[in-house]
Formats: sequence, structure tokens, C-alpha cells
Amino acid sequence: MAERLDGHTILIGLMAYPIRHSMSPTMHNNAFAKLGLNYAYLAFDVTNKELPGAIDAIRTLGMRGSNISMPNKQKVIPLLDKLDPAAEMVGAVNTIVNDTGVLTGYTTDGTGFMQSLDDENLDIRGKKMTLAGAGGAGTAIAIQAALDGVKEISIFNLKDAHWEQAKKNVATINAQTKCKATLHSLDEQDKYRSEIADSAIYCDATSVGMKPLQDQSLITDPSFFRQDMIVFDTVYAPRETKLMQVAKKAGVKHVFNGLGMMLEQGAQAFKLWTGEDMPVDYIHELLFSDASK
Ligand code: NAD
Repeated sequence: MAERLDGHTILIGLMAYPIRHSMSPTMHNNAFAKLGLNYAYLAFDVTNKELPGAIDAIRTLGMRGSNISMPNKQKVIPLLDKLDPAAEMVGAVNTIVNDTGVLTGYTTDGTGFMQSLDDENLDIRGKKMTLAGAGGAGTAIAIQAALDGVKEISIFNLKDAHWEQAKKNVATINAQTKCKATLHSLDEQDKYRSEIADSAIYCDATSVGMKPLQDQSLITDPSFFRQDMIVFDTVYAPRETKLMQVAKKAGVKHVFNGLGMMLEQGAQAFKLWTGEDMPVDYIHELLFSDASK
């Protein structure tokens, strides 16, 4: 690291709170080193209160950009100069690029999700998806899948604080893409079963399956799934969620956790900042070779 950093090193940030646990600095700094790129990626504790000053610092210090995470993904929007169309539709930003003082906001969670399926040679374009969740991850996945040509998305959510966002996602998709989106309550169990039975992919983008809900799954009955479908859980800790165990019990061939999506959202941001492809296989091996983590 010390050999790499000099007076020309370009800084990229990660602005969120809490954020010190993030794997992103390790991921990006190892990728810069592998490719011999003179960049450094640092995490900064930034709450909503510090956000305007932190965004100004990107311009003042000539940083190349930053990742943005909670609680700043929505609050950052008025502080930027431009928004990528997908970020505008999602209503959230996780990546900022600074082009000589002009800050553009992007969202790479959705493109990361789609790319992680492409990496497995699985194509859901022209097909139907059933998606649980309409928080940050669920919104980004639904919008990007619709933009990329998924034919139909059946969204399920609790009637909780995210229900309004779910309604907004369906309205945005139906108004601005060729995809047909519908919304259902997770209480409608018969509908939940029949929509999944009719889908090429079931994706869980809820917090169920990760701490403190790591012992739970929205689906416990393996007969919800077909062997030839894709079951995708956005959770990556634990590596094998309860949902994934149920899908495997059903004999589902393509069962994924959120690791591929996490790596690919980082890779998409890396490309936006550097113009280079992140060495994804190398980073995967470096960070996640212990599959039991
Ligand atoms: P969020 O708080 O914005 O949204 C949470 C979602 O979960 C909402 O739709 C909410 O209604 C639903 N939910 C919460 N508790 C529930 C319950 N008991 N039963 C049913 N639904 C419930 O969170 P987020 O940022 O969208 O994260 C959601 C999941 O996506 C998390 O598991 C997170 O780890 C994962 N995620 C993965 C990646 C990745 O790169 N793999 C990126 C972002 C988020």
C-alpha cells in the first residue's frame, strides 16, 4: 500500500454511518493494487448532518467520487448536479462520480443484481420475476430488472413502512418501462404461491434471513418452488440462508445468496470511477474463499 500511494493518488470515499464494518474498502483497495491503479478508497463516518460538508469536500478536494450508504442514499440527491436515469427512478444513490466538479449520482445495486445473473449465464429478460421486498435493495432490483427487459414483476411486501415505496415502484415501472408490475401483500399466501409457480425467478430482497432474523424464511414449504427456477436471496451473511436451504430441499438448481450482487455492485462503481473492469474473480477469492463465513 505504502509503495502505491504518492502525491498523485486519487481519493474515493464511502460516506455512511455506521460504516467501519464495510468490506468495500478492502474490495476496492485490493482491486486498485491488483491493476496498479493510483487510487485509494477510504470509509468516512458521515450522518445526514455532515453530509452537505462531505459532498462539498468531494469537489473541494478533487476526489473522483464516493460510495454512499445508509442513512444518506436519498438525502444526497439534492446535493448532486445530475442523476443517472435509473437512480432517478429508484430515488436513491449509492455511487457518486466527480467529473471536474460536476457530481453525478448512480445506483449500482440493481445493475449488480442483473450482472450477477449474467455471470452465471442466466438470463431473466423477457421472463417473470416474483420479488419480496421494496426497501433499498428491492427497489433497485425491481427498477433495473424492468429497465433491462424483465417482462413481468410481481412484488410482495408487508403492509409496513415500505408499502408506500412498493406502490411507488409499481407505478414507476408501469409508467416508464415496458414491464408489467403488480403489488400484493405478503399475507396473500395463495397468490404468493401461484405467482412464484409462474415465475422464472424468485428473489427475496427483505431483511428476513439476515441478523437478527437469520433463523427465519418467508417461505418454509419447499413445494413453493420448481427445480428449474432461480431462487435468489440478497442476504450474504450467513452465506446459506434458511430460504436457500428450503430451495435446495426442493431440488432447485440455481440457488444464490447476495455475494455475487454485492461484488458486482462494487464492480459497476469501480468501472464508473476508473473506466477499468474490477478483477471480480480475484476479489471473490481474496475476500470470500472461506465459504463458511
Ligand atoms: P430496507 O430496510 O430498505 O428494506 C427492508 C425490506 O424488508 C422491506 O421491504 C421490508 O418490508 C422487508 N421486511 C423487513 N422485515 C420483514 C419481515 N419480518 N417480514 C417480511 N418482510 C420484512 O433494507 P435493504 O437495504 O433493502 O436490505 C434488504 C436486504 O437486502 C437485506 O437482507 C440486505 O442484506 C440485502 N442487501 C443486499 C445487497 C447485496 O449487494 N447483496 C445490497 C443491499 C441490501
